[in-house]
Amino acid sequence: MQYHVNGELVARENATVSVDDRGFRYGDAAFETCRAYGGEVYRWQRHAERLQRTCETLGMPDAVPDDLALRVAETLDANDLEGAYVRTSISRGVQLGKLTPDEDVDPTVVVYVRPLPRGGVDGERVWDDPAVVQSVKTRRPPDAALPADAKTHNYLNGILARLELRTASSDTYQPDEALIRDTDGYVAEGSTSNLFFVDDGVVKTPAEGSLLPGITRELVIELAESEEFPVETGRYTLDNVRSADEAFLTNTTWELRPIETVDGIELGGGPMTSLLQRLYDERVETRCY
Ligand code: PMP
Repeated sequence: MQYHVNGELVARENATVSVDDRGFRYGDAAFETCRAYGGEVYRWQRHAERLQRTCETLGMPDAVPDDLALRVAETLDANDLEGAYVRTSISRGVQLGKLTPDEDVDPTVVVYVRPLPRGGVDGERVWDDPAVVQSVKTRRPPDAALPADAKTHNYLNGILARLELRTASSDTYQPDEALIRDTDGYVAEGSTSNLFFVDDGVVKTPAEGSLLPGITRELVIELAESEEFPVETGRYTLDNVRSADEAFLTNTTWELRPIETVDGIELGGGPMTSLLQRLYDERVETRCY
């Protein structure tokens, strides 16, 4: 494999960043996880916009290189990849010694790829089974503490939530996604996914505020609305989710992943989840293949 590091394609073994890099030292970096179908990054524009917004939140509005899309294309080509996981990272770069960021930013820019199966109508899912979801004690920090719409390298909150799953696991129960609430106790999202559930034909998803507004979430809402399915965003409790008719998670790599159980309570996908999955697959098929 070859990765793109600071403008150069390098073999994976030589793809390194400095220990003085602030991305390593403080998680002081922005990133995006994208998916390529048929050799092109799907919804690149939306990912590029979110990356730019994150860099602005971090006070480094000029950090994203103008040729980032080209670097991504070169990395896919160099590895001969059509279907791929694509991660672009922009850190504040090497700065010595102190917490206060320097105004001058020489960002570290990395493009990382790995193969993923084909998507679209004849695609293969990247997950093996529907998600087993467990609610956790770890809460999402309020937006006023850590802007929820910034996708930074600092994923400790999600990691703490995933560590709780380990404690909850047994031979017969292995949750694989954490359901995280906000500090008021309302359901926010998964560690790396957004939550949807279906109640009496209404597609519901937690409102923005203490969650990362996912690019997949946005498209799923758009697809549901285009079919005139009622969509509601709001503040929901764990009980609202546990008593739903269907539930699923979304993110760029999973696309739509049905939820089998929440806290051991059976939910499963259902007709709405299947329909939205089909619409998503058809959209990928027509746009990418
Ligand atoms: N929430 C969190 C915390 C995430 O890490 C992700 C994955 N980026 C998502 C939601 C889903 O976002 P997207 O659909 O843009 O991949």
